[in-house]
Amino acid sequence: MRVSALSIVLALWVHLGGLIHIASATDIRAAVSAVPTDLCGEMVRHKTLIEGRPVSCSRLSLIRFSYFGFDNAVHSDGEIVVLDAVAQHVAAIFDALLDRRFPIAKARLMNYYDGDDDAADVDNNTSSFNDRVVAGTNTLSLHAYGAAIDLNPVQNPFVKVTGGKREASPAEGKLYLDRKAVRPGMAESVIELFADNGFSIWGGDWRDPIDYQHFQVSRALAEQLARVSAADAKAIFEKHVERYRQCGRSGKRTSDCNR
Ligand SMILES: [Zn+2]
Repeated sequence: MRVSALSIVLALWVHLGGLIHIASATDIRAAVSAVPTDLCGEMVRHKTLIEGRPVSCSRLSLIRFSYFGFDNAVHSDGEIVVLDAVAQHVAAIFDALLDRRFPIAKARLMNYYDGDDDAADVDNNTSSFNDRVVAGTNTLSLHAYGAAIDLNPVQNPFVKVTGGKREASPAEGKLYLDRKAVRPGMAESVIELFADNGFSIWGGDWRDPIDYQHFQVSRALAEQLARVSAADAKAIFEKHVERYRQCGRSGKRTSDCNR
């Protein structure tokens, strides 16, 4: 059979077109699943999951996602564990971050750091679930509900204010204390995206400490979601998101819609 040069060119064109299509970042979507049993065991071993806390492994979801890196490449190794009720909206957040080419340094499960939040911050890791208390207190963190997300801790440091002086954690975050000059990876450009998906409380609005990396739902809502069944929790969270979106459409400010 004679193959014309034109048909070869056409075949190549279709083939390359297919490859470009596959590689197009906007086609890649995050995948939500239950946390597999062996991962539950690993989380217990690495002390990121503690028995007797409000959220058990059966109420957690694993999201695998791709993200746009600071190296301008798309990475497919993003993983985050969150409360089941919020998982679809968290997946939507990471899909939107990829579509917008918002850079993320890395997103590993907290097992990798044995639950050590400081180690994850220094490594600029984006994460959510971790059975821990709020640093320096006995209060359970919203991360222990899988209802809080920390985004790029270096670009969005935790800041303590002592005698008018601001101290960034991790230390590298001191390069990002000026929040007016919004640079790639800084939370300010995605506050509305998180809020629109139910994470309407941003630690960057706090006075002292200021937690620029931290997005969460309200504590009352997190406690309620953990208390009720998975199905009820999902319905309650959907209602919460819809109420927030309606409030936003009415032109009110984020702080008013949180009430
Ligand atoms: Zn946090």
